[in-house]
Amino acid sequence: MALNIESGKTRACPAGLIFDIKHYAVHDGPGIRTTVFFKGCPLHCHWCHNPESISPDRELMLMPNRCARCGDCVRACQYQALAQKEDGEVVADRSRCTLCGDCERACQREAISLVGREMSLEDIVAEVEKDRIFYDQSGGGVTLTGGEPLFQPELAEALIDRLHQAGIKVALDTSGYAPAEVFLRLARKSDLILYDLKVMAESQHKKYTGVSNRLILRNLKALDKLGRPIWIRFPFIPGVNDGQENLKAIADFLLELKSVKMINVLPYHKGGVEKFHRLDRDDEFEIFEPPSQALIDSVLNYFKERGLVAKQGG
Ligand code: SF4
Ligand code: SF4
Repeated sequence: MALNIESGKTRACPAGLIFDIKHYAVHDGPGIRTTVFFKGCPLHCHWCHNPESISPDRELMLMPNRCARCGDCVRACQYQALAQKEDGEVVADRSRCTLCGDCERACQREAISLVGREMSLEDIVAEVEKDRIFYDQSGGGVTLTGGEPLFQPELAEALIDRLHQAGIKVALDTSGYAPAEVFLRLARKSDLILYDLKVMAESQHKKYTGVSNRLILRNLKALDKLGRPIWIRFPFIPGVNDGQENLKAIADFLLELKSVKMINVLPYHKGGVEKFHRLDRDDEFEIFEPPSQALIDSVLNYFKERGLVAKQGG
């Protein structure tokens, strides 16, 4: 279920829950980057590639493909939250799980883990500082993504400030679904905004993401006035947002703005599907067909013909 962020309530998280830090990323902004994945997102996109990012809490993830079916995790669990089926497959009763982490520590094969790590600002800065040489050489920096970085605004803001003090550039990758005052405060501090635009019709946006897009479009207009460079991220999902009406509405909207430098078309892939199983959340997501290259090219060409700079990936 999507969380109501329009009320202005966001997760207070001074330490911060991070579910991954990816080094040497080349698709999350210019140059070579380190991408910090914040856990927790107020949207619930049916095609999500990182379904483990949505819950604002830690959660148990099983990875059957790594599992030796030894049963060590089951024996380590004091709460009878794990069991083995006859064939040895480990199954979880999540209602009993206290997130104690004993199973993760017991597993020799990293086949069961708790997604989400409490990290202090200093922990994160120390981790990203390791890549500093690559930022300097490539014009890269750090990208805050998720999940939704604006869902943990105190940490995101403190991190942007700290990285800037260290001379590191920061890109903010956001759905834009955040209270305007929070969103604009952090956007003003960021060097680049990667902004998701998924579906223009409000009813379809609600259907596929769980929330209205009114706030998102309002925030994008307000962001445009700040003059910060914006790269639009368009997750391209056939059957959801490939209709001519939607593409036209996106182009019409973006052509009214002054700060949009590029639209990145991000073709749907099935990378998130296996994770739905690992989290026992298959029923919350849908499986779509990835677009053909011809379809991707036709969308890119359409945006280019309308006068936008369009690129696949990015
Ligand atoms: S301890 Fe690890 S490898 Fe052994 S059954 Fe549990 S998850 Fe599988
Ligand atoms: S995190 Fe703790 S309670 Fe949950 S399954 Fe693992 S050992 Fe059991």
